[in-house]
Amino acid sequence: MMRDDYKVECGVHGTSPATFICHHLSHHRENQGFHMGYDPEDPDVLYPDAWCDQCNEVLEQEGEWNDTSEAFAKIKVVCANCYCSIRAKNWLQDEEALSHLIGDSFDYLQAMQDTFMKAYNIGDCERWDWDQEMGTLIFSHEGKPTVECDVHFVGTLSTLSKTWMWAWANQSLSDKVKEQSRLVRRIGDERQFLPLACPKWSADETDGWEMTAIMAKAVGAIGAYRTPDENGFVYMVVSKARWVSQEAEQINLEIPL
Ligand SMILES: [Zn+2]
Ligand SMILES: [Zn+2]
Repeated sequence: MMRDDYKVECGVHGTSPATFICHHLSHHRENQGFHMGYDPEDPDVLYPDAWCDQCNEVLEQEGEWNDTSEAFAKIKVVCANCYCSIRAKNWLQDEEALSHLIGDSFDYLQAMQDTFMKAYNIGDCERWDWDQEMGTLIFSHEGKPTVECDVHFVGTLSTLSKTWMWAWANQSLSDKVKEQSRLVRRIGDERQFLPLACPKWSADETDGWEMTAIMAKAVGAIGAYRTPDENGFVYMVVSKARWVSQEAEQINLEIPL
């Protein structure tokens, strides 16, 4: 049984996935710090066990979870929705550094995107198809495929649950398309940015584009694209693009990229 399969009855949120946090975090306080466990056997779990700064100090003194550190943490069960709001209230991050990263990334993506859309006439294409196994996104015009792109998925935005989920945490995606999103997770872990380090959080479409811009800059993408699905949108970055039809291949020679 996967960790995410345990359920708990929450007075506020109803039946929800069960998560585990220290008792300090379970009290209604803020800015206590938020540290997440890492289980190598289940590395992409949506709601890793979490504890506060104080618990982390004890854990570092003890060097492991033992009777002392566990007695201090007194781990409690809370529902996943409560976990997310507790995480948002207690996570400490450099907000200014995060908005700089977002701003710089947007500038990067905007510049690349304009060139990409124009160079490949993406605006004229009525249709797209993606292939997870191949990691490609194919644009078509007048019934014929015209441009083939190598893509990496960033994540999905659910307009139903109003949440963002990183591609790396999405079990329905192939490794081929989600692998590069782990680079952003590493940046999030190193710089302690909640939206980059955490697999799933409350979000809107703007957040989706912000995360896409961050990944685009981090991996040096030439553009980005968003396709609708039944619950919202799938965001992806484009690493390479090429013309498909023979006619277009000749045009390609005339467009220096
Ligand atoms: Zn604690
Ligand atoms: Zn709850």
